[in-house]
This record gives sequence, C-alpha cells and structure tokens, in this order.
Amino acid sequence: MIAFDLQCENGHSFEGWFESNGAFDKQKKRGLVTCPVCNSISVSKALSRFGIIKSNAASKDMQINPQSALENISKQIFDFVEKNFDDVGTDFTKEALKIHYGVTEPRNIKGISSKEEEKMLKEEGVDFIKIPMPAEKNDTDA
Ligand SMILES: [Zn+2]
Repeated sequence: MIAFDLQCENGHSFEGWFESNGAFDKQKKRGLVTCPVCNSISVSKALSRFGIIKSNAASKDMQINPQSALENISKQIFDFVEKNFDDVGTDFTKEALKIHYGVTEPRNIKGISSKEEEKMLKEEGVDFIKIPMPAEKNDTDA
C-alpha cells in the first residue's frame, strides 16, 4: 500500500491509500476517488513535499549520493528561510509567544532558542519547526 497526499479541485487536502501508483490512476479514472469533504471526483495528487527541488541534478545526486542530496535539500530550505523569514535572533521565543498571543501580527520568524525555551514553547502550544543548518554554517554548533 502507498499513501498519497491528495487534493480536490476545491483545495481540500486528504490522504488516500492505494495498492499501487497504477491503482490510484485506475480508481481515479472510474471516479472512485472522491474528496471526503465535498465529494468532488476531481482529485489529484498534491504537490510533493519536496517539490522545492527543481533541478534534475538533485535527483541525479539522490541516486549517486543520498548524503549530498540531503545536504542539498537542507541548504535549499535554509536559503528559503533566509530569504522569507525575519531573523529575530535570540528573541525567537519572545517573538514567537507575542505572535502566539496576538500581541504582534503573525509573520515568519526564525531565530535561536535554548532547549528550555523550546520546552516552554511546546507547553504553550506554539507550533514551530527546527531545521538543520547546512554543514558549512554549522561550525559553532559542534
Ligand atoms: Zn473537496
């Protein structure tokens, strides 16, 4: 069985389990794959979570050297975060809590937090993710 992330024409996301890739296509053609929310049969596989890998080089890397492909991915994520997230440095926990409690406008932030602060954020129910820094920028963490 394989699980696919699926999405209907109205943008509902859901997960579907199929015997194989072909089984999905067959069931979809026969209108058997429907959205659990709105019953639409216009369902497609949602974009892959790793859709940010654009170049063919990345998939070539994947076959030859999984490690370097992984580093590639984490570098791309890091670059994306670098460009799109506000660096609040060591104020990360403070800023995250402010956003969580609506004191400031929601926005993308990144920063540094200690283990204790992360524990506190979790207890407060703040959603955050940690991303690994690319090796070259990770010198101080060793
Ligand atoms: Zn739907």
